[in-house]
Order: sequence, then C-alpha cells, then structure tokens
Amino acid sequence: MESCVTAKIKIPATEEILATLKVYKEALQFCIDTSWEKKIRNNVELHPFVYPKLRETLPAQLAIACIKQACGMVKKAKSKPTIRHVSIRYNFPRSASFKNNILSILTIKGRVKVRFSVPDCYREYFSWERAESLLHLDRKGKCFFLFIFSKEINTESPLQKRVLGVDLGINNLAACSDGTIFKSPKTKLIQFSYMRSKLQAKGTKSAKRLLRKLSGRQRRFMAWVNHNVSKQIVANADTIVLEDLKGIRKSRNRFMGKRLNRWLNGWAFRQLQRFIAYKAGILRKRVKFVSPYLTSQTCSYCGKIGSRHGDSFVCSCGFSAHADLNASFNLRRLPVTQPYNPCDDSIVNRLVEHRVKVPRD
Ligand SMILES: [Zn+2]
Repeated sequence: MESCVTAKIKIPATEEILATLKVYKEALQFCIDTSWEKKIRNNVELHPFVYPKLRETLPAQLAIACIKQACGMVKKAKSKPTIRHVSIRYNFPRSASFKNNILSILTIKGRVKVRFSVPDCYREYFSWERAESLLHLDRKGKCFFLFIFSKEINTESPLQKRVLGVDLGINNLAACSDGTIFKSPKTKLIQFSYMRSKLQAKGTKSAKRLLRKLSGRQRRFMAWVNHNVSKQIVANADTIVLEDLKGIRKSRNRFMGKRLNRWLNGWAFRQLQRFIAYKAGILRKRVKFVSPYLTSQTCSYCGKIGSRHGDSFVCSCGFSAHADLNASFNLRRLPVTQPYNPCDDSIVNRLVEHRVKVPRD
C-alpha cells in the first residue's frame, strides 16, 4: 500500500513567488477556457493550442504543469471552472528541489531559493519519496508550500492478531469493537452551527467575513479531532475494519440539522477514514473496507436481524448491546471469520458483558 503525507509549510511570500502565482493563475484560466471551448480534455492534445502562448510568460516546466492541471480540472467539472485561489504544481527535481531547509522553486524570474523550517511532527517524512507538491497562497496572502511525500509500505504482514471493527457515526464519532467509544464533539459543533445560522441571517459584509473565518475554524477543529481519534484507533489494533463510505447512513441521527449532518457525513468522515488509513500505513498496519450492508441491523451474536431502540440494539435471541458497538462487532467479524462462529472469537467474551435479559411475556 502506498502511504501519502502532506506537510504544509509556510514560506516567505517573496516578490517573485507572488508574481509567478499571478501569472500562473491567468495562464491556468486561459488553458481552462481553451480546453472548455475546444472540448479537449487531454493535455497532450491541448498542448499545441496553448503552449506557445503560455511560454511568453511562463517557464517550460510550469507551462506543462499548467496544461495538465487545467485538463484535470475540466475533466472533473460540470460547468466551466473559474480560478479563485491558485495552487501551482511542482515536481521534484524538475521544477523544485530542497536541501538543508532551503527550498528552490522555479518562478517566472528563474529559480528562487527560500528558507523554511520543518516542524518536528513532519521531520520523518522528509526522508520519504517526494511526490508532486503544491505552492499555494491563501486568502490572507500567506504563502505555503505543500510538500507531498509518499512511501510504499508493505502491509501484507501476517499480523491479524488485534482486529478492530470501527463504526463511524454522528453521535459517536467512532465506536470500536474493543468497547471504546469516541464521542463526537457535539456541543462544539452545535455551537459552530448556531453561530453560522446567526451570521447567515444577518447577511452583511462583515457577517460574511466572519462566516468565512468560522468555517476555517470549524474545519481545523474537526481535523484536530480526527487526528486525535484516528491516532488512538490505530494504536489499538493491527488490522482495522471500516465501513465503505457509502455506508454512512443518512438517517442515523438528525439532531444537528441537515447542513451539519451532511458536512459530517461527507467531508469529516472521509477525513477520519483517510487519517486512519495513512496513520495505519505508517505503522505497517492493515486497513480493510467492507460493505456496510446491514451492519447496524444485524445481531453480532446470532446473525439475525434485530431492532434498535435509541442507543441500544436488541435481538430476539436475548443479546443486547450499545447499537454502535454492535455494528462495530459486525465489522470486526466480517472479513476475518466467515461464516460466523461465535465460539472461536474473543469478542464473544465482550458480548457477554453487554448481554442483558430481554423481558419475555
Ligand atoms: Zn441475536
């Protein structure tokens, strides 16, 4: 499995870099326009139409990167893309290189060297393979270089010992089959969504500005949460079993409003899964994705379909457990022992703990 890590590092926004970003942005829009107009989605085919014009302002390496990037964007787009915040793609060693904390990147005024410092958390990745990286200018005019590193990690080791099923949800961000539940930071998220709705109702210019700020804060907060949760999950297992993302059920919890739910369902969950996958990769652990079909309705003890009452899952066989944990038990089992044999599985011991008598009449 190939693991990818991005190290976002601030670099000084020098005159040459700013000028290059500006020229590149115009060039990129020009390529997009041309590609859209001529209905060409392939960079090799687009090349003769735009390259000579691009070369008037851009160095060859950046012109080629620009054409590629434009085609990539047009391919994905449903309507013609408009560039607002541009990122320039660099590849090592052709258009960028670094050595001893000095980054050398190609600009419209030739190679420019800038000094950067590497935070401790990123240090180990700087020995990995260098992949295509990005130069990016944010809204506030701060300049970042996004180093992207990759490494081929052999995860086909026979380690299957500690298999952990992880069920993602909204109320509980993650429920693990070892009985751990990571609560979602509900209060904080509701706070965000409350402030958001207030600002949206106001609709003034300064409210819009605040809104942008708020969404950045919310995003960073959620990323921080996801980093923490994924780190702990990965530390507790050798093989992690997750639901295929399509399985994040829409109807699970409706308490936070549609908008926030959608955001959590999509971006935030995908990020959590991504974090789990890459952190697992670094530690040579395995991640498996399984179909989420009926994981939350099936009884993890007998395999029948049970029912859910609020937070708890109840089956006619007498088994009952926290509903999210029940789902995680199912996930844990799926790829490992099938057909299910409750006797050979250590989770049975756990299940018994959760077992309660269901009243019969
Ligand atoms: Zn049952």
